[in-house]
Amino acid sequence: MAIKNREPSDLIRELSLDSIEDIIYSFPKKYKEFTVVKSAEDVITGKNLAFKAQIGMPVYYPERKRLVKVDLNIEGKRASACWFNQPYKKIQILKLKPSAYFAGEAVANNREIVFYHPMVGKEPIYQNSGIYPEYCLEVNDNEVRTIIKKVFDGNGIIKETLPESLINKLKLMKLKDALYLMHFPKDLSNLERARKRIAFDELLQWKLTILTEKQKYNSKNAPILNPDSELIKNFISSLPFKLTIDQKRVVEEVFSDVKNNKPMHRLLQGDVGSGKTVIAVSALLCAISSGFQAAFMVPSEILSKQHFEKLREWLAPMGVKIYLLTGSTKKSERNLIIEEINKGVPLILTGTHALITEGLELKNLGLVVIDEQHRFGVRQRLSLIEKGICPHTLVMTATPIPRTLASIFYADLDYSEIKTMPEGRQEIVTKIINKNDVKKLYSIIKENLKNYDSRVFYVCPLIEDSDSLRLESVKKRHKELVNLFPEFEVGLIHGKIKQSEQDKVMQDFRAGKIKILVSTTVIEVGIDIPQANIMVIENPERFGLAQLHQLRGRIGRGKLGSTCYLLVDEEAYSSKRIQIFEKVSDGFELAEKDLELRGQGEIIGSKQSGIDQTLKVANPLKDTDIMRVAQKVAEVIMQKDPDLLHFKELKFKMEKTFKDREVIKAI
Ligand code: ADP
Ligand code: MG
Repeated sequence: MAIKNREPSDLIRELSLDSIEDIIYSFPKKYKEFTVVKSAEDVITGKNLAFKAQIGMPVYYPERKRLVKVDLNIEGKRASACWFNQPYKKIQILKLKPSAYFAGEAVANNREIVFYHPMVGKEPIYQNSGIYPEYCLEVNDNEVRTIIKKVFDGNGIIKETLPESLINKLKLMKLKDALYLMHFPKDLSNLERARKRIAFDELLQWKLTILTEKQKYNSKNAPILNPDSELIKNFISSLPFKLTIDQKRVVEEVFSDVKNNKPMHRLLQGDVGSGKTVIAVSALLCAISSGFQAAFMVPSEILSKQHFEKLREWLAPMGVKIYLLTGSTKKSERNLIIEEINKGVPLILTGTHALITEGLELKNLGLVVIDEQHRFGVRQRLSLIEKGICPHTLVMTATPIPRTLASIFYADLDYSEIKTMPEGRQEIVTKIINKNDVKKLYSIIKENLKNYDSRVFYVCPLIEDSDSLRLESVKKRHKELVNLFPEFEVGLIHGKIKQSEQDKVMQDFRAGKIKILVSTTVIEVGIDIPQANIMVIENPERFGLAQLHQLRGRIGRGKLGSTCYLLVDEEAYSSKRIQIFEKVSDGFELAEKDLELRGQGEIIGSKQSGIDQTLKVANPLKDTDIMRVAQKVAEVIMQKDPDLLHFKELKFKMEKTFKDREVIKAI
């Protein structure tokens, strides 16, 4: 069969890998352990067993869920193997007669020992050890293994990344051996040693990347800014509220940073709605009042527009120039803005990352605020530096992440935190509602809209923009609600709608022309509409906790009491995540719970964070010992050999891993 002849190059293509080496770095996702049967006594039910068996005639029972059953003789013990809905197994087994290798769980069924859907083959499926690596790829495990074996047999593919002295000193396994064992483990303890070696490599590369970057920042001078200006005082006193104690403290922390010519690199964590924007603006104004330009970068167009409008409302009366630049800014307008920038006059530029990716020359840039950081990559920050400018940088997280994680992932940043919410904020009540009771929900919405000047968010789970099936469902829900609420305007917003149209919808919703907004997660981050007091989230089980918290953060921003309804079916009702989300409203606490439930990746939004691609085997939360050693080694290397002249292979790997992928976005 054609399948048999798959070559490494086929796998590279099919799995969209870059090189042969990547095949080696496609590690098994998990390892199953089998006891290798040596005698009849080893055949015990409830255990994962690997064995060679004599096989009888396979029998096909079309009426019994298309069962294929075959009798086995395992070292004298009788058992059987069963497959449902795989009639082709019959021929496969026939071909293997009189004996074959199996691996699977032995199950007791009416005094019989049965293996349901065991793995079967002509060659031993298990390694010598009985450890079975599972790749969870589209290509069959056996084939993957055959190809990997081929790659290993080829010459000189794997180059050692560490000098021998270091390997010996740290008692590490050689890279080649470690990589081999990841695919062909001999036993569990060896496998763990192999994993540790590769984890060390990953963490060392990561630490070196951070240190290299830090050095780049720190070797540059940032402009000294003046926070004691009338402009800033006027701004703060013009606010319709008083800063909370936490806000005041963080503002002071920022001010004391920017007075220095050492560039600020500060991370600000604060729960959704804790008032981070005011801090951002205070920071931006430090640049303005010292004659510099400032940039406010946010992850979405909608949000950049909102910030732009807010800033204009607050600052335009004080004569501060503010511009909005996004991917959809018209060319003529863009040119005008660029002209202003080139003049070097103090101004605030608000926008998406188009701000820095589109070749702007921000020579006079004094300070950058990056809002909702985890969507931004280290590349963006670096590309500013590469343009020869070194602004002060304030990074703000959208949703808090646990302190432990923050200290790992934002290792090179100073840390500020807003713990308390502004006064008078009403806690958002969260309620799980069964889809069968949706009528009740509709009447609550109706009452609410009749009695108050309020707004309702109605979120449907459309996670990927390409998800056309569910896009239909958002549109359908919109139509339904339009019919159900003839007395109120019901709007619709999602990523497939033209930007200008999205803007219009948002504007109408803000102004109260639209009362109910059916939306996808485009409204997830940052949107601030104080009148919004009801949020309905349909199928909340499709979202992660961090994302749910972001969504919920769109309400509870004004004077009205706010409620978040989670619309679920029976199945989702019992979801632990949903239960936790109903009870816990504090973002920091939720983040801790999230960490317990899912591990590191999801919190930072694993898909976006790129951590999955860069740290394949290391787990910064668990491999703390390796982390510590990697940190130390990285520091020594940076001191003695900052250009990594003696670590060419490591450097090559580092650049490959950390360059284009928006690495550890959180750095
Ligand atoms: P986030 O931290 O999520 O970015 P925002 O900066 O959008 O939060 O603030 C949320 C809301 O709280 C805004 O409407 C903002 O004007 C308001 N706000 C901020 N600080 C205070 C304060 N000290 N007292 C009262 N309201 C505040
Ligand atoms: Mg915000």
